[in-house]
Amino acid sequence: MNLPQQLEPVDPLGLDLPSLVAAFGEHFGKGEYHALPFFRSLHRTGASDPRNLPEYARDPNLAEAVAARFPVRLPPICGRFGDGSTYKFLLRLRDGLESESVVIAMKSHKSLCVSSQVGCKMGCAFCETARLGHLRDLDAGEIVAQVLVARHVLGEPVENVVFMGMGEPMDNLDQVLRAVRILNEPRGLGIPLPSITISTVGHVDGIRRLARLAALPPPEGFPRLRLAVSLNAPNDPLRSELMPVNRRWNLARLREALLEYPLSRPGDALFLEYVLLEGVNDSRDHAIEIVELLQGIRACVNLIPFNPGPDSPYRRPPEARAREFLQWLLDAGQRCRLRGTKGLDAMAACGQLGNPDRKRPRRR
Ligand code: SAH
Repeated sequence: MNLPQQLEPVDPLGLDLPSLVAAFGEHFGKGEYHALPFFRSLHRTGASDPRNLPEYARDPNLAEAVAARFPVRLPPICGRFGDGSTYKFLLRLRDGLESESVVIAMKSHKSLCVSSQVGCKMGCAFCETARLGHLRDLDAGEIVAQVLVARHVLGEPVENVVFMGMGEPMDNLDQVLRAVRILNEPRGLGIPLPSITISTVGHVDGIRRLARLAALPPPEGFPRLRLAVSLNAPNDPLRSELMPVNRRWNLARLREALLEYPLSRPGDALFLEYVLLEGVNDSRDHAIEIVELLQGIRACVNLIPFNPGPDSPYRRPPEARAREFLQWLLDAGQRCRLRGTKGLDAMAACGQLGNPDRKRPRRR
């Protein structure tokens, strides 16, 4: 066997299993027999040293070559905020920037809210991350790393992954989908597609691309991958004020794209996120407008009471108003639920990611 000596190291966290098998063929003249145990132990334990895998026992040179080409390094945790069962953690990335992820305690398991970018360019008026601007996209390995760290370093029983951390997933869809593919791989973590949610600001081109993929079977397709859309306002003037993306794709175009989104099972639904801002979008008229807008769309509205940042101009409505708003929607026949607000103390709640004082990489 010819072992190439001078190969550049590649982060194996960003490779799906077929790509890893192909790389093993190309570089080492080997196949799944060696690639699979390496991949499996990487995803199921968070570590993988081919020198300790039985499949490599007879070929120590191969083990060395694989370890050199595919070094396994989870990014270090460089911050943790909140000490309850819902908390935010930061990972130090190769270039010194930091990703933010939130572990969210559910009744029987945990959800992980992951970032797809550092910062965001969507500029929503109420969102903390928007204040950072867009620093860069995360690659698939950096997205997968957030899940592996939660599972294997923090020991959290993460079963759901939601792309509701920093960033707009549709703005970085290739890397997001590659990460989804890796997380879904049954011979790795095997997280089911219906347990993974892509949340978008309402990027219609991205929704259409995802719709095509959701209608195809694997390996190209992503059937039953969940889609959430941040609505936040039920009419164009208000939505354009709160979310600049609405000036590019207005509600009529968003509605059209949602109507065409394939939902293969009767119980499946799209999620529409609606951040409640006191005196801005929380009146009875707004509730009625939501119901009219969603006519004919199989959707569940998730109401999220606003989580204020340090000097944000918006306020969270009183609890009683949030309940009333929920009831208006339910009375009009709209599927709907009111989200609790976990992680507030830790600045780990929705829209609180990306504290501007940590904007620039620290000097190394
Ligand atoms: N860019 C994606 C994902 C990140 S935002 C998207 O827009 O969906 C995730 C969710 O948090 C969105 O529904 C957004 O509307 C909501 N959100 C943003 N800021 C918030 C805040 N301060 N309080 C409550 N929810 C907020």
